[in-house]
Amino acid sequence: MAYEALKQMVDESQSIVFFGGAGVSTESGIPDFRSVDGLYHQKYDYPPETILSHTFFEQKPEAFFKFYRDKLLTPGIKPNKAHLKLAQWEQEGKLLAVVTQNIDGLHQAAGSKKVFELHGSVHRNYCMKCGKFFTADFIRESKEPVPHCECGGRIKPDVVLYEEGLDDAVVSGAIHAIAKADLMIVAGTSLTVYPAAGLLRYFRGKHLVLINRDATSMDSQCDLVIHDKVGEVLSSI
Ligand code: ZN
Repeated sequence: MAYEALKQMVDESQSIVFFGGAGVSTESGIPDFRSVDGLYHQKYDYPPETILSHTFFEQKPEAFFKFYRDKLLTPGIKPNKAHLKLAQWEQEGKLLAVVTQNIDGLHQAAGSKKVFELHGSVHRNYCMKCGKFFTADFIRESKEPVPHCECGGRIKPDVVLYEEGLDDAVVSGAIHAIAKADLMIVAGTSLTVYPAAGLLRYFRGKHLVLINRDATSMDSQCDLVIHDKVGEVLSSI
């Protein structure tokens, strides 16, 4: 019944915005940092939230890049049914934009063009001195523990680390899309987590839908809540 209700909302909508969190990528085999069996509970010398901080990147770049290569530059990861359906909707002119907290580039891999990556992407890495960009493959295959550009500058992932602010242009692009949306689907994240909660304030459309494996404290404020896997839900409507 919930699936039918969602299908009807999607059919009636012309300007869908999808807001996705870690739960969208877990179906592609990428662990959720915050879930019980996610990275936060794996054993490292430091907790992941420490390793993925600006201070740590500056002070212990070797350990940072070891973690980055091991855990974030996961080769062979493919878009799942959720990514593919969203790309299809964009192609059909039904979807305005995807706003994502994920840094894996899977929406683009599925064919989506309008993607606001709030936390950046592992597919962009840049020289802190000259600004030249490098691919994830370059970082993965680099022999140096801390990769450097040919100009001598240190390379930094274009990923928003802890202690760093979000990119203003990305945030305002996301807000602009959300403000124009008639249907907003939030998936694989709890609405209570920053920045989801703040961005949602700009939604003035008809229906707010939440697809999340677990219940959240915001469930009652949505027009429709589906507790299931995002890929399963989107591919069945
Ligand atoms: Zn350089």
